[in-house]
Amino acid sequence: MEFELAEEHRMLKDLVARFVKDELLPLEPEVLKREAEGRGLGIGREAHVRLDEISKSLGLWGLDAPEDIGGADLPAVAMVGVEEELGRTITPFTLPPDSPNLRMLRATVNERQKAAYLEPYVRGETVSAIGISEPGAGGDPAGMITRAVREGEDWVINGRKIWISRAADADFTILMAVTDREKGARGGISAFLVDKGTPGFNVVRPIPMVGGALTYEVLLEDCRVEGWKLLGTEGQGFAPMQLRLGTRRVQMAAWSVGMAQRALDMICEYAPQRTTFGQPLSQRQAIQWWVADAATKIHAARLMTYDCAWKLDQGRDVRLEISMIKAFATEMAWEVVDHAMQTFGAMGMTKELPLQLMSGKLRTMRIYDGPTEVHKWVVARNLLGTRR
Ligand SMILES: Cc1cc2nc3c(=O)[nH]c(=O)nc-3n(C[C@H](O)[C@H](O)[C@H](O)COP(=O)(O)OP(=O)(O)OC[C@H]3O[C@@H](n4cnc5c(N)ncnc54)[C@H](O)[C@@H]3O)c2cc1C
Repeated sequence: MEFELAEEHRMLKDLVARFVKDELLPLEPEVLKREAEGRGLGIGREAHVRLDEISKSLGLWGLDAPEDIGGADLPAVAMVGVEEELGRTITPFTLPPDSPNLRMLRATVNERQKAAYLEPYVRGETVSAIGISEPGAGGDPAGMITRAVREGEDWVINGRKIWISRAADADFTILMAVTDREKGARGGISAFLVDKGTPGFNVVRPIPMVGGALTYEVLLEDCRVEGWKLLGTEGQGFAPMQLRLGTRRVQMAAWSVGMAQRALDMICEYAPQRTTFGQPLSQRQAIQWWVADAATKIHAARLMTYDCAWKLDQGRDVRLEISMIKAFATEMAWEVVDHAMQTFGAMGMTKELPLQLMSGKLRTMRIYDGPTEVHKWVVARNLLGTRR
């Protein structure tokens, strides 16, 4: 049994830590200011271009993309270290290309789609979105009713998607739709590549959310998609979609560890300096227990996330572990950040500290890619199912 990262993966983690410290943390005051002024969560185009250039020059690009198209094809274990470091900052920047859609595309594209979609995506030339959720089907995506019907060589899609991140900006959306009502999630749901500006792909409204997040509602009205843009095999879209969701969930667990660690570091720095009733806060048992619990739970979440990623790299079935870490790590970080906010008193309530944005972000993370209760239900159902 080995509990240390391989040397090259530790060096990569250290490199990302330096990138976060030198490039992303200095942008936080501007991110906080923009968000406090109601201008959303962002860094602006110029900063984005500059960060893209720097990450490329550092080799922090295409880390888990295939080698034949310029990636480093790193295992999930290495990516956990990378994502933990990125999780420490509220500056919204993902090392391109974002892993979840990358994993789904890798698992499904044919040669034509590889050239038209995967390769430009890996080069960082395009932005993608994923359209799964619907007004009547979120936590239970098998209940989706958006329908794709074959017409000649094309597919015609009708329905409504909601809560879709980046839908207005994405160059293409991986859109999930029912192609066989009878079969549903068992062979009746397919994935389609829908380009920005396709007639009938109507982004009807932005929906601002807590934590500065922004999602969109999309109405699909006779949206015609060319036949070759069916992603993977007709009716078999659910498994690659789950692969995509699993990738995001592991990533979210790693982000949560990073966020919680940052919040704990902030408590440990502040508590000895702040005196109330003649004693520093660090002498109070309430704060000491928060520190001890946070350190213990962060340690547990980190090990669980590495364990899950390692098993994933071995090709093992990690559906249960993914549900466990997604629920455990996001709830854990939510609690640690909340305790940090409490420790800082009124300062913790301000929009000058990153804590409130971390809290808002974690609040949404407890919902998207499956709410906590759904993941707990999955774990319990699996265990109870074997002991009926
Ligand atoms: C910031 C953000 C970004 C998002 N981005 C995207 C995106 O890009 N693409 C996309 O397709 N979707 C996206 N979503 C949607 C997201 O994945 C869904 O909102 C989520 O899966 C929950 O679905 P729902 O909102 O329909 O909740 P529901 O499924 O209605 O669940 C509501 C609540 O009911 C409870 N519950 C439900 N089922 C169970 C159960 N079996 N056992 C116990 N309790 C249960 C839980 O407490 C849950 O929170 C995003 C959501 C957010 C908040």
